[in-house]
Amino acid sequence: MKKRFLLFLVLLPMLIQAHGLRPLVWVLDAGHGGRDNGCEGIKSLEKDINLEITKELAKLLKSSKPGIRLILTREKDEFLSLEQRCNIANQANADLFVSIHVNYAIGKPLLKGTETYYASLHGMTDAVLLSSHTKNADKSELLAWLMQKSYKDAGRETSRGVKPERLYVLTHTMMPAVLTEIGFMSNLEEEVYMNTKKGRKEIAQCICNALIDYYTTTQAKTHKKTLKNLRNTNGTFSGLKTEKKKNEPKQAEKQEEKPVEEPVKENLQDAPPVESVEPTPAQEQPAVEDQVNPDMAVQSPPAEPQTAPAEEKVESIDEEPPTPSIPVFSIQLFATSKELKATDAQLQGLGPVTYVKADNMFKCLYGGTTDYQQARKTLTEVREKFPDAFIVAYLGDKSITTAEALEMQR
Ligand SMILES: [Zn+2]
Repeated sequence: MKKRFLLFLVLLPMLIQAHGLRPLVWVLDAGHGGRDNGCEGIKSLEKDINLEITKELAKLLKSSKPGIRLILTREKDEFLSLEQRCNIANQANADLFVSIHVNYAIGKPLLKGTETYYASLHGMTDAVLLSSHTKNADKSELLAWLMQKSYKDAGRETSRGVKPERLYVLTHTMMPAVLTEIGFMSNLEEEVYMNTKKGRKEIAQCICNALIDYYTTTQAKTHKKTLKNLRNTNGTFSGLKTEKKKNEPKQAEKQEEKPVEEPVKENLQDAPPVESVEPTPAQEQPAVEDQVNPDMAVQSPPAEPQTAPAEEKVESIDEEPPTPSIPVFSIQLFATSKELKATDAQLQGLGPVTYVKADNMFKCLYGGTTDYQQARKTLTEVREKFPDAFIVAYLGDKSITTAEALEMQR
């Protein structure tokens, strides 16, 4: 009897779900926010477009699927770490996670179109996450395909396809999850479109339609069959499914290994700031002490930043040791409780890095340059893998704000 009661308790949440007593919970995640602008166009910031479209989407979903409980990770212009976004979804035991972003391609103003990512299981070592993602893989991929189909159906001709990716919000959420790139900020035509009321409404409607299709398909339990059909339509809406290479190449190699069919293989989904825009201190990453993310809020003592990354032609000044009178910019990837080996998976092949002790944490820093534009360029590249990375500045061994550093350079 006792055993039966325990079994009942274990099965209760499932029974409640199965009988529709607990509403489905969907989390809508507007990418970036607060100090993190995402990518920057000529007239707009990604974080604002993401938020507007997410709000519009929530409105549409509420009127079409009132039974579903919607949670927005943010409803205003505020900074949330990737971890916080995942926590919101995981703690709500959500049934679906949808992250909304705008793409950017450096030096390719004509590139346009939409693309949608789902989690790549490759390299996933955490047993709990792996088991959850294996279970959800079909549904995540299904939604990614439905999303691309929906854009196409609505007349967005250029689909860059459906892709498995190791993006934090996809690999650390415990439910079916996708990240959709609604267009390119680096393409003026698309930026203008995303900034019109009509454009935003249409995009939100596309995502809404895909979600309703997803709902219908999963409720009818026909998702496996639908997924198979959608995969077969690959060519019809140029969904290019490319699993990542086994060993992630370094940035420099990665650029050279683009498949011919895709002019820009690098995934810029996570916020590269535009370089051509002259930065103003106000737009910059705030001082370390202003960071909201506790991991990033660690105060920083002396750093001897590393030389800049190999990919770009780096001015020779980068190789010289910084002198205390010249501020040096570096990229903080994350904070960690201990120094990591160069081969540690957390570094995703990026290096060399240097560690700066701060209280009982270490800040993991990458690159070092006195050229602020160069630092922004490096940040853009680094954010492909570390969307939460940001620029830090040092004067000798003293941590200063980027605004102070820029002021000094003036
Ligand atoms: Zn983004």
